[in-house]
Amino acid sequence: MEKRRYDACMAVPNLATILKRILKQPTAPFHEYHVRAEIEALLKDCPHVKLKRDKFGNLLATYKHGKTKASPAWVLAAHMDHPGFVKKPGAKKTEWEFLGGVPPELVEQGVARGLRSKPVGEIATWNFPTQISFEKVEAAACDDLIGCAVIIATLWELASLNLSTTCHAVFTRAEEMGFLGAWHCAQKWPFGKKDIFLSIETSRPVNGAVMGGGPVVRVGDRLSVFDSDAVSILTTTAKEQGIRVQRCLLDAGACEATAVQAAGFRAAGVSIPLGNYHNIDSSKQIAPEYVMMNDVRSLIDLLKALVATQHDGIGERTIRERVEMRMEEHAAHLKAAAKLFK
Ligand SMILES: [Zn+2]
Repeated sequence: MEKRRYDACMAVPNLATILKRILKQPTAPFHEYHVRAEIEALLKDCPHVKLKRDKFGNLLATYKHGKTKASPAWVLAAHMDHPGFVKKPGAKKTEWEFLGGVPPELVEQGVARGLRSKPVGEIATWNFPTQISFEKVEAAACDDLIGCAVIIATLWELASLNLSTTCHAVFTRAEEMGFLGAWHCAQKWPFGKKDIFLSIETSRPVNGAVMGGGPVVRVGDRLSVFDSDAVSILTTTAKEQGIRVQRCLLDAGACEATAVQAAGFRAAGVSIPLGNYHNIDSSKQIAPEYVMMNDVRSLIDLLKALVATQHDGIGERTIRERVEMRMEEHAAHLKAAAKLFK
C-alpha cells in the first residue's frame, strides 16, 4: 500500500479552524472527552502521526517521518481540562461542583450573574462566545485549549512541510486538579529516557512578561526551576529563527513540567501570555480568557523549528567548553599572578 503523504488534495486544517473547533468544546477537570475526541478527529488524517490513548485517558501522538532520529526528542504537552462545573459524583439530584483554582466567592458571583452555561451532559462551563480575530482569541477556556490547538497546528505544519523528524505529544487530563494526567504519563513514560517534556501552557504574564511580546520561555514556575539545557535550546532556537520570545520566571502558577521533573525526567515549559487567567478579570469578575494571535503564531513557529532541528551541535558551545577555552586563553595571567599569592 502506498504510504500516505502530503499532497495538494489533502485537507490541511488552518489555524483558525483548529482554534475554533477546539475552543468550542466544553471541558472540565476529569471530563475532557469532548476535547479529546476533537483532537483525535483533527489529527486522524495527519500524515506521519500516530495516535494512542493511555490507561488514564491521556491522548498520545507521535510524529515520525524519515530515519533521522531526533535526540533528545521533544514531548510537547498540553492539558485538555479547564476550571469548570461538573455534576457531583453520587449525588441523588443534580448538584454542581466547581473544580479548579477559582475562589468560591467569585464562582458564586459568576453564577449569580447568570454566567454558568446550560449543562452539556455532566459539564457546565462559563458561558462566553469564542471570538477569533487576526489580533486576538477570546474564549471561555484558553487555558489550556490554546496549548492543545498549538500542538495540533504544529503537527500539521510538520506534515505539510514533509519534515523528517520524530517528536511526541501528550494531551493530558486533570491538570487543574494537581497534574494527575501528567503524573500518570511520567510514571509510565512511554518515551526515551533523555527525551524532554515541554509543557505548552497559557499563563498570567508576570515578572516583566507582557501580552503580545512573544511566547514565554519559562525558566521555571512557582514550584521548580526547569532543565537548563532545554531552556537554552529553546532560546537559541528562537534567536536563530528570529522569533521573538520572552525569557522569564512565570511563578504565578505551576505547570506540568514541575510534575514530570519531580518524577525524574527532563522538563521545561513555554507559555503564551494569558489575559483574565482562570476567567478572573482585573476587577475580580468572571470574564472570558484571551490570548494574542501573534503569540500563538510565534509559538507554532518556535515548536516547528525546535523539533525539526538537531540540537547536538546547536551552534553555541557548552558552558564547560567555554570555561575551558577561557582557562587556556588566560593561562599566562594565571601563571604570572600565581607567584604573588603567598
Ligand atoms: Zn493551564
